[in-house]
Amino acid sequence: MILSDRITGVSAKTTALVFVPGFRYTLLVTPYPVPLTPHVVDWSQIDDVLLDMDGTLLDRHFDNFFFEEELPRRYALLHGLQFTESRDRLMAMYRSVEGELAWTDLHYWTRRVGIDVVALHRELNHMIGFLLGAEEFLQHLHQLGKRVTIVTNAHESGVAIKVAKTGLDRHVDRIVNAFEVGYLKMRPEYWPSCQRLLGFDPARSFFMDDDENCLTAAKEFGVAHLIHSAKSSSQLPPAPLTQFVSVTGFSPLLSRQPVF
Ligand SMILES: [Mg+2]
Repeated sequence: MILSDRITGVSAKTTALVFVPGFRYTLLVTPYPVPLTPHVVDWSQIDDVLLDMDGTLLDRHFDNFFFEEELPRRYALLHGLQFTESRDRLMAMYRSVEGELAWTDLHYWTRRVGIDVVALHRELNHMIGFLLGAEEFLQHLHQLGKRVTIVTNAHESGVAIKVAKTGLDRHVDRIVNAFEVGYLKMRPEYWPSCQRLLGFDPARSFFMDDDENCLTAAKEFGVAHLIHSAKSSSQLPPAPLTQFVSVTGFSPLLSRQPVF
């Protein structure tokens, strides 16, 4: 039994008071603050499980490092720039197409920056991997008999490299990239198009993503069960949201009992 789902005035490292047998209160301590919302997913109400890939199942450290560190380093070498100026230029380029398919189109970026970003993905593929507990979560969903689909904004070339490295495709029924749908997930047009492609019932569907805008678009379309992945990178602290149920791992989604 959870005593309270929101406790104020406690140390950032103290996450919850839990009522334990024997009428004693126990302080649970974790190395970082986590949202105090106990959440139990009633899987009997869900047929389709839609999962984001990068930052939800796979460690987004790879993508952050790739686009914010390594590509600026290579671009600086190519153009004789300081690293900071190179990164600023690339960040401005990223923002110029944010929300459009070009944003994640690896062929587009190969042309625009003059560096083969697909080959560079392969070169760094040792950094691609699952987030902690993701494989166990996928196995759990398989045991529950759910139809599991990865819905990703990533480009098919990047998906292929990540699948080859992780075997992610063996855990799911299908992987749908945004180019098949015609839009990125944060766009309202994405969801009816994706629904036609997959044939899921929004009222009986679960969607998990680390991007707030993608979750908002899914919510506006009517996807009933929404979870935010707050721990998108193994190298960054959790970034929970207040307007969605945020989890820092998969444990709360596996159990019928609230778990912190
Ligand atoms: Mg993501």
